[in-house]
Amino acid sequence: MRLIFFGPPGGGKGTQAKLLSEEFKIPHISTGDMLRAAFASGSEMGKKAKVIMDAGHLVPDDVMIGIIREVLESPKVSTGFILDGFPRTLEQGKALSGILDDLHISDVTVVNLDVDDDEIIHRLNNRIVCEKTGRIFNTDFDQLKVGGACPECGGRLIQRDDDKEETVRKRLTIYHSTTKPLIDYYKAHGVVANVNGTGSIFVVHKAVKKAIGV
Ligand code: AMP
Repeated sequence: MRLIFFGPPGGGKGTQAKLLSEEFKIPHISTGDMLRAAFASGSEMGKKAKVIMDAGHLVPDDVMIGIIREVLESPKVSTGFILDGFPRTLEQGKALSGILDDLHISDVTVVNLDVDDDEIIHRLNNRIVCEKTGRIFNTDFDQLKVGGACPECGGRLIQRDDDKEETVRKRLTIYHSTTKPLIDYYKAHGVVANVNGTGSIFVVHKAVKKAIGV
């Protein structure tokens, strides 16, 4: 299974990628999680990335392409991968095609999660994450709140700095101008599975599996 999860910020890429990853034992590669881990570890790259992320902007292509090349060339993804949050620009998409060609990988499916902007703003306003593991929860459904304890590991629940409404609007603008056009590149080059990302996590999970035929 080799998948690229595509869609707006807050569209459910992370949640759905994690579910599939757990069910099929395929590595989940989230560039956002990797950047947050780099910041948590105190690295210089992580500190620079955090400033960019908090402003709702994209981290430069050369940094992201370097990160993803290293992961895809490692043995842990030899049986498959689920990319979440990469590529986000045409430049990244083209670089990814080059990396996959070098690795003789051609069977990649793009799962395009479709969710409209109003729904995204509502969702991200209610999204909280475990500070320790990054596990995602929703204040609407999970009866948890910022400052509470993660039901899985006891870690502190926080709102991501980039989930504040003003930053979400910035991220959506960038998604529409820079990331979304990338789908045309994939439509021209390979398999795109369109999935309606509105609905419960379970309903969308079932729709994703149907779309990719598992
Ligand atoms: P995410 O967790 O996927 O929503 O990513 C959070 C933030 O990390 C994004 O808003 C960007 O600032 C940064 N980021 C993650 N992946 C990429 C990427 N492929 N290219 C540029 N920036 C990225």
